[in-house]
Amino acid sequence: MALQLTRAGFRVTVVERAPVPRPGGQAVDLRGPSREVAERMGLVPGIRDHQLDERGMVFVGDDGRELLRMPAEMFGGNGVVADIEITRGDLNQVLLDAIDAAGGGLDYRYGEWVEGLRQDASGVEVTFASGGDARFDLVVGADGVHSATRRMVFGDEDQFATYLDGYMSFFTVPTPAGIDPHWFAMHSVPGASNVGLRADFDPATSKAVVMIRMPADPALRRDTDAQQRLIRERLAGAGWEAPAILDAMAVTPDFYFDELARIDMPSWSKGRVTLLGDAGYCGSPLSGQGTAMALVGAYVLAGELAATPDDPAGALARYEEILRPFVAEAQKLPPGGLRSMTPKSRLGIRAGRVVSKLMMSRLLQPVMAKAMTKTEIYSLPEYASAPVAE
Ligand SMILES: Cc1cc2nc3c(=O)[nH]c(=O)nc-3n(C[C@H](O)[C@H](O)[C@H](O)COP(=O)(O)OP(=O)(O)OC[C@H]3O[C@@H](n4cnc5c(N)ncnc54)[C@H](O)[C@@H]3O)c2cc1C
Repeated sequence: MALQLTRAGFRVTVVERAPVPRPGGQAVDLRGPSREVAERMGLVPGIRDHQLDERGMVFVGDDGRELLRMPAEMFGGNGVVADIEITRGDLNQVLLDAIDAAGGGLDYRYGEWVEGLRQDASGVEVTFASGGDARFDLVVGADGVHSATRRMVFGDEDQFATYLDGYMSFFTVPTPAGIDPHWFAMHSVPGASNVGLRADFDPATSKAVVMIRMPADPALRRDTDAQQRLIRERLAGAGWEAPAILDAMAVTPDFYFDELARIDMPSWSKGRVTLLGDAGYCGSPLSGQGTAMALVGAYVLAGELAATPDDPAGALARYEEILRPFVAEAQKLPPGGLRSMTPKSRLGIRAGRVVSKLMMSRLLQPVMAKAMTKTEIYSLPEYASAPVAE
């Protein structure tokens, strides 16, 4: 968003609460419209330099035995592993490099956040945590699923969030010996949890993924010790590489843990404040479309603002009208949501495997491929004024 606006000649200020670019996150995929946006924004060469070599998914048992293998090409390339996979942290760096290359016009402030917003017909008065006020034509809240901008302008998170039955955690671990770093390995653990390892750019490390199905527990919010305790309890006796992953969790540099939630807002904008990405329309990591929605949303919002710079209200209305159909599809979860991915009993885990085998059968593969295309048919608007990289 900031990149496209800077290229279009806007003066942009970005405030990021973290003191430095936030590392962390596992592979995010680019396909269909999000891949097209990356191409139009000139990001693909940078992405290719960091692209992961992930070849598909394997399901493993307690003893590490392979139970099922789904190559990336299966389901027409629309399965869990896509053609272009890059870690969230590396994609963030590609965007930061592109911003650097775009030159001046951008004021990037780390360790800063907004404490107050007051708007009138012609602008928004912003109070920063570090002190001082400044006036802006428009404020874009791209501050994630627990957006403070949303809370300040639209109201409490509870009004807009739907809990999706569990929690997910991602963190970097050394790749255990005997693990093929090019395959996304997943292990179901009785008690409604699973643990996996995904490719990292450096094969010496992998991204651990943990899913836990349970009722919401507000005490887990922002309490890393409680979060790691929960993971240790759920993975105790899980076999496979769980002990090595738990050891590495204690010292990982980028532990991330959050509840799974969807955000639904009746409107993404109020006056001169608008929301972008997870802040306005999070689908949760279960949707597999969080980055796609953020990228496509940023492209459309920047394109519309650049088309009518003197009419932000019109641009915000068009942003919403154009993007809503894409978001509606992208937020849809796989059938059964987290429940289908985290069976409670060994019997349930075995039944899940039988269903997966059926899906992989020659008869059902084309049907599944069609069901997995979700947002592929969305046609991305063209913006004459949105600059494409040289
Ligand atoms: C560390 C991390 C790891 C993640 N890992 C995964 C993953 O592995 N798989 C997955 O599917 N999704 C992951 N996500 C979520 C995924 O990044 C988003 O779904 C998607 O990229 C949409 O991005 P977003 O920019 O809307 O939100 P986010 O990526 O959440 O980014 C929001 C940014 O706003 C900053 N911020 C928060 N509050 C404030 C504030 N008050 N003021 C200023 N800045 C603020 C945050 O530090 C963060 O940098 C992760 C998110 C984070 C933050």
